Amino acid sequence: MDERRLQVTEDQVLAALAEVRDPDHGENIVALGWLRGLVLRDGNVGFSIEVEAARGPALEGLRREAEDKVMALPGVVSVTAVLTAERPGGASQPQAAPQSPAPGPGPAGPAPGGPGPGGRQHAQTLLPDVTHIIAVASGKGGVGKSTVAVNLALALAAEGHDTGILDADIYGPSLPRMLGISSPPQSADGKIMEPLEKYGVKAMSIGFLIEENTPMIWRGPMVMGALEQMMRDVNWGALDVLVVDMPPGTGDAQLTMAQRVPLAGAVIVSTPQDIALIDARRGLAMFNKVNVPVFGIIENMSRFICPHCGGESHIFGHGGARDCAAELGVPFLGEIPLDIEIRETSDAGTPVVAISPESDHAACFRAIARAVWERAEGASAGRGGPKIVVE
Ligand code: ADP
Repeated sequence: MDERRLQVTEDQVLAALAEVRDPDHGENIVALGWLRGLVLRDGNVGFSIEVEAARGPALEGLRREAEDKVMALPGVVSVTAVLTAERPGGASQPQAAPQSPAPGPGPAGPAPGGPGPGGRQHAQTLLPDVTHIIAVASGKGGVGKSTVAVNLALALAAEGHDTGILDADIYGPSLPRMLGISSPPQSADGKIMEPLEKYGVKAMSIGFLIEENTPMIWRGPMVMGALEQMMRDVNWGALDVLVVDMPPGTGDAQLTMAQRVPLAGAVIVSTPQDIALIDARRGLAMFNKVNVPVFGIIENMSRFICPHCGGESHIFGHGGARDCAAELGVPFLGEIPLDIEIRETSDAGTPVVAISPESDHAACFRAIARAVWERAEGASAGRGGPKIVVE
């Protein structure tokens, strides 16, 4: 029998966590009242452990032990445990943003606040002045996710929205290249960085901070730390929309990110081939798991118009993403042709929407931007906004 199919219960999680003792107090973390915002959904478990600020860094081992204990329970698929200190902004900031993967009030300690969109909670407000945070995701690399993310952000800006773009692809940041940015961000106080601004869009990427060819080896918590820093320690200001270029794939790293970022919704980029569409389906399932609405699917490299004869060919097939969207019951947001101009402009740091705003390609991206914006507005009207303050 497959144990992973069993549903883990709150009592089981609490019992497991009651085995985790803080040696300094000689008591377990549940009895100490340190447990906050425990949530469970489909085997994904999230909680935070509130500790004394000064001890934060020393308690990483305790946090890991708590995760391991819960992970060992039958039916648990993922565990996200984070340390928080009582006073944010002090010497020991949260080790990682407390976040929960799923709805449901926490049974342990005073549940600090209500559920967010789809019931998600954020124990700390990240990006409080951003109206909509939208992930651009893909089941695999190389389908043009970053190209679409950048041009979508520019198209949203062209539609009159204050827009930012956050490169969450920590492993392969492409924003510096796609926006042609090579200077590092400035910080007046050494803590808060100013986002870089290009073509009227605010941008932040780990690639702005690290030399291009520096090999990056990230452990999970470091990824989360970097991502969180790019949300919390960047002066994004008030934005109508922040486009988040997610790392490709639908593994644990992506799932955790989807949980941690207070997303209003996601769009999935796919090429028309079956193989890419299988991955797109996985993407949809991943966002469903963490209750992030999928605003729709975009078909990239949809058709090729020969620059010489004007004939249309379907190099990767055509219409597969539309059919896939229909089959999965999510909106189809539009298709972007395979075109040399799109490749050359995005690789040269001069995205087509910015430099040829009157082109057919730009019109294509703007139509998609309008559809995405409508979905985002609809989603927030339906659920009362993407974020929640709980402290
Ligand atoms: P991903 O983020 O999915 O890995 P990228 O956005 O980096 O993919 O795109 C991969 C390559 O494909 C880049 O060289 C990019 O310029 C090119 N590309 C993306 N979309 C198109 C398109 N519609 N037409 C032509 N080239 C494209």
